[in-house]
Amino acid sequence: MKRAIYPGSFDPVTFGHLDMIERSAKMVDELTVAILVNHAKNPLFSIEERVKMLEEMTDHLSNVTIQSFDGLTIDYARSIGANIIVRGLRAVTDFEYELQIAQTNRIVNPEIDTMFLTTSLEYAYLSSTIVKEIASYGGDISKFVPLQLMERIYAKYDKNKE
Ligand code: ADP
Repeated sequence: MKRAIYPGSFDPVTFGHLDMIERSAKMVDELTVAILVNHAKNPLFSIEERVKMLEEMTDHLSNVTIQSFDGLTIDYARSIGANIIVRGLRAVTDFEYELQIAQTNRIVNPEIDTMFLTTSLEYAYLSSTIVKEIASYGGDISKFVPLQLMERIYAKYDKNKE
């Protein structure tokens, strides 16, 4: 039984994340998309909103579930019996950070391995930060996030303007 987690902030989920989810879900029996409750960051969407968005977008994938967690990814993985952590590599800039975390995690728990997928080329530039930046100026985000989520993202900034 191959059980994996794909951890991240997903604030908000983008086509880049969804591409990663679809591809990694094919490689394992069960994939848990795990949203990190990160107190240090000031998120645009609440955890509940992010869970809902991800659930809607992965509804068609029968072996994918959405959860949130607090604490260390490696501890959360162990707690749900996952032995694979999925991460995405976009550019060289991701590499150094991800390598450091993956190697540390191996020392903490050698039973759990990190599996890296390189980004699909069309999403290589894409990040939640870019989406937020463009949406904050009312720019077109239709190429970055699913249609169903666009209004929810713009609404966050409309609210802020009031
Ligand atoms: P984090 O705060 O953990 O980086 P993100 O939500 O930004 O959370 O990203 C979660 C994971 O998804 C990371 O492994 C990141 O590299 C990957 N990822 C983000 N955007 C893309 C993309 N466009 N293509 C492939 N992987 C991506």
